[in-house]
Amino acid sequence: MSLQIRLAMFYAVLVGAAIIAFGLAVYNRSTEFLLQQIDVRLESAIKDAGNVLRSRNASELLTYDASILLQLYDVNGELISTTSTTESGFSGNVIDPEGLSIVIATRREYSAELVRGSLHYKAISVPVMVDEINVGVLQAGTSLAAVDKLRADLLRSLVLIGLVITGVAASIGYYTARSGLAPLAAVTLFASEITRSDDLSLRIPEGRRPPDEIGKLITAFNETMARLEHLFNAQRRFLADVSHELRTPLTVLKGNASLMRRMQQLDPEALDNMSQEISRLTRMVEDLLLMAQAESGRLEIDLAPMELDTLLLEVFQQAKILAGGQKTLQIVEIDQVVVMGDGDRLKQVMLNLISNAVKFTDQNGKIFLRLRIEGDEVRLSVEDNGQGIHPDEVRHIFERFYRAEKSRSKTLDYDQKGFGLGLAIAYLIMIRHNGRIEVSSELGKGSVFTMCLPVLK
Ligand code: ADP
Repeated sequence: MSLQIRLAMFYAVLVGAAIIAFGLAVYNRSTEFLLQQIDVRLESAIKDAGNVLRSRNASELLTYDASILLQLYDVNGELISTTSTTESGFSGNVIDPEGLSIVIATRREYSAELVRGSLHYKAISVPVMVDEINVGVLQAGTSLAAVDKLRADLLRSLVLIGLVITGVAASIGYYTARSGLAPLAAVTLFASEITRSDDLSLRIPEGRRPPDEIGKLITAFNETMARLEHLFNAQRRFLADVSHELRTPLTVLKGNASLMRRMQQLDPEALDNMSQEISRLTRMVEDLLLMAQAESGRLEIDLAPMELDTLLLEVFQQAKILAGGQKTLQIVEIDQVVVMGDGDRLKQVMLNLISNAVKFTDQNGKIFLRLRIEGDEVRLSVEDNGQGIHPDEVRHIFERFYRAEKSRSKTLDYDQKGFGLGLAIAYLIMIRHNGRIEVSSELGKGSVFTMCLPVLK
């Protein structure tokens, strides 16, 4: 059953139930009121007749209400006097024989609703007391035909009105649900269209939709599609990048191998070339593996308290060799600080930042290292006066395989040329340390890369 029909039915059942409850209340209250009115009339007829009997000291009954039958009995149940009534089938009979005997026995007022043939009536029996002695019983009865008719009319009207209103409610519910759900049908159609066409760039037009649930659903759907498209494209780019990076070393390897086969002898230069390419390939595979592990959360990081300043000094010793004689590598500031970290991984990030600084500065390169506590965090920065990064490229440098081309003013030696994976790995390592990595750079002036970590308290 469609949601539309279910909503319409729910709406109709709700309205129907409300109408039944309302109808029952109206019906009960009206019936109660009508019966009360009958009781009042019967009571007052008995009271009047009793007063007349007492004042005249007679035994003849009088009533002003022709629809009420009055009867007077003695304590033996013998009829003493009766009035006549316009109601057919009522005169000539004892109004309520059971009520008569009950009142004679109990001397208490008794009332009942009775059915005699087709006559439905109400009877009241009252003891007649003279000086505390029960001398007889006065009975009054009147037909309830008018009340029954009113009740039947009321019931008919309530059922009719109830059915009409429930029907109207069902149709309103159906059409409201249809118009409310129409945009959802459009969304479904669009989603199937996207699946059919395999085009992840398609979006559901948001137009000027009000910010209701469906509007939010469309926005969320489009956001998911954008994310999927981004991931899918990234995946595609990644595959293309890996194949591209693999091709050069493999071509070199193949070329050198066939050269040696042709020459029928081992060529030391070709062998050097080959081993250089194999190292490059190995490096790349190791980097890719590390990145895959980091991205899937499987990279083992053994966090333990460690002195970051000691770690920096160790890295500094190794990096001095990297920088060579001509470039300046200097620790400008070093605060003592303990952080939660994996020493090897943090060293790897520091070395990557320093080797980049070395790579992208010229012969007179100056590289300054700073380790400083700022509030709750420690900032370890690597500043260089190298070529800097073009503003358009800065936001991409942490992406896999990204190498800034616009910024490149000097061509790197082949073996210095990286794969554009170092910063992507550094970024993931910092995230796993609950830290981050920041960069600020000016083209032609230099760059500052900063590792930020929470200080261990
Ligand atoms: P790569 O192996 O190419 O160095 P990275 O991920 O470490 O890969 O760096 C990505 C790119 O960011 C580099 O190719 C370079 O264009 C740019 N870059 C990184 N560090 C610096 C720096 N200190 N100065 C200028 N450019 C830099």
